[in-house]
Amino acid sequence: MERKSFRGIELSRLGMGNMRLPRVGDAPDGEIDYGRAEAIIDYAMASGINYYDTAWMYHGGKSEEFLGRALVARYPRDSFYVATKFHYQSNHDYKYVFNEQLRRLGTDHIDFYLCHAVMDNVYKDYLDCGCIDYLLEQRAAGRIRYLGFSSHATPQVLRIFADSYGRPWDFVQIQCNYYDWRYSTTREEYEILRDRGIPIMVMEPVRGGRLAQLTPGAERPLRAAHPDWTPASWALRWVRSLPQVQTVLSGMSTLGQIQNNVATFSDEESLSERDKGLLERACETFHDELSIPCTACRYCTDTCPAGIDIPQVLALANKVRMGSQGALRDIRKVEGGQPENCVGCAQCTEHCPQGIDTPAVMAEMSERLATAGV
Ligand code: SF4
Ligand code: SF4
Repeated sequence: MERKSFRGIELSRLGMGNMRLPRVGDAPDGEIDYGRAEAIIDYAMASGINYYDTAWMYHGGKSEEFLGRALVARYPRDSFYVATKFHYQSNHDYKYVFNEQLRRLGTDHIDFYLCHAVMDNVYKDYLDCGCIDYLLEQRAAGRIRYLGFSSHATPQVLRIFADSYGRPWDFVQIQCNYYDWRYSTTREEYEILRDRGIPIMVMEPVRGGRLAQLTPGAERPLRAAHPDWTPASWALRWVRSLPQVQTVLSGMSTLGQIQNNVATFSDEESLSERDKGLLERACETFHDELSIPCTACRYCTDTCPAGIDIPQVLALANKVRMGSQGALRDIRKVEGGQPENCVGCAQCTEHCPQGIDTPAVMAEMSERLATAGV
């Protein structure tokens, strides 16, 4: 396992996320299957992974307890590093949360501690509630080794937060993958942190698994260049090649996943310039093949007998296809008709200059909403 120096210690390039541990009977809301989850921890430790990420509310609070039993109680305390997080919205009482986390994990210190999911609508709560002063005291007392935060904020707010409290941050965790680098604000976020010399822990390197399954036109040239590399492996290789990236987190639910990820991080072949160019074009192909090219001209809306705000639903459908559950819920907030009200009359298609098969998209969204119970 490749390692990289971090403030005097050596961290594995691959870190294990503990938010998607295997569940009993694979039920979506089932208890953690300790036997299978422990086997993953054992495989991770045997493979040289030494960074284990959890949070207050993962698995309803059971993820921290699981790590306490499967990792902290079974391996020498200096053979791994634990990261966990304070989530303001789940519980404002940061003192209680921190001490309870020490109890759950069965340890007297937490190696990496984060303010969790800093976003535009909550960052002021983190800045004003007193938690950062408290966490700095814990770091000074040795109960926290390194302090950071995870961010889903806009670049503007990320900049404000990174510069707050005299920049005490040892590291920051952001969503980073080649798709968001091209089509979202990841590149700007990365540059903000790089310019401040803050090491980056990466979450969602495969975009919640979405980049593990590309469209055929996107995958073909990648397979031709490296028949042995999976699409997920391309995504992991790309993100680990960024100089400011310290450790790449992957939430692993099966032994097969961790075996594949460990194999990728044990293979030192990095992306050549030609590979990077191929991946950039594959990303564009993936985006184009997946996207609905609605220009929001609204030529279709007046004639829809179901009263659906078609361009709004299509814009959200693009996000849903990229794995956003939030966008699926947002479809319910669109005023007017809903996808399941579509009667398939094709009036919209006749008026559409982009030739979009809107009834097919409505059927797809309707099915996705029903499956998700939204
Ligand atoms: S096919 Fe569906 S979305 Fe299109 S106009 Fe008819 S009812 Fe509206
Ligand atoms: S006519 Fe086509 S491009 Fe225009 S808003 Fe409707 S779906 Fe979008």
